[in-house]
Amino acid sequence: MVLNFLKPTYCVQSVYDLSVDELKKHHIKAVLTDLDNTLLAWNNPKGTPELHEWLKETKAAGIDVIVVSNNTWDRVKKAVGDLDVDYTAWSLKPMPRGILKVMHERGLKKDEVLMVGDQMLTDVWASHLAGVKSVLVERLIESDMWQTWVNRFIENQAKKIIYRKKGLVFYDSLTKAVEAKKD
Ligand SMILES: [Mg+2]
Repeated sequence: MVLNFLKPTYCVQSVYDLSVDELKKHHIKAVLTDLDNTLLAWNNPKGTPELHEWLKETKAAGIDVIVVSNNTWDRVKKAVGDLDVDYTAWSLKPMPRGILKVMHERGLKKDEVLMVGDQMLTDVWASHLAGVKSVLVERLIESDMWQTWVNRFIENQAKKIIYRKKGLVFYDSLTKAVEAKKD
């Protein structure tokens, strides 16, 4: 039962794999995303050129990118800095409240959003509790935060079980992931 909540809808390498074309094809109006290790890594707080390019492309296409972070308002505000994205902080993922708040404020329907993140125990779980599709990405860099380390340990165990029981494969695009699931 819990495993169903932890199994991501899609698995891709990184957030940049969600191309504008694919997002449009899936009628996605907003990409909700985790911050730490999904958009930014501690060793590159400004973000990669790929991230900036992706943000520019989604913006030009009218697809909103909104950060849903468990971190504090102060930290998130500083971190998103010049990324020019909206954000909500203190979301308490795996609780769905941050995701639901953003959807409510913007009048977004469940099938119009994706929630992207690097952790099953927070991002993926919260997505499914909110009733939205989840995208698990590979973490940008190993974190040295012990809370994350503990989560990671549990998560790796869960991943092993899900991999074995339900199949968990990373694809290089959303469409490929969908197509592969149909087989
Ligand atoms: Mg994260």
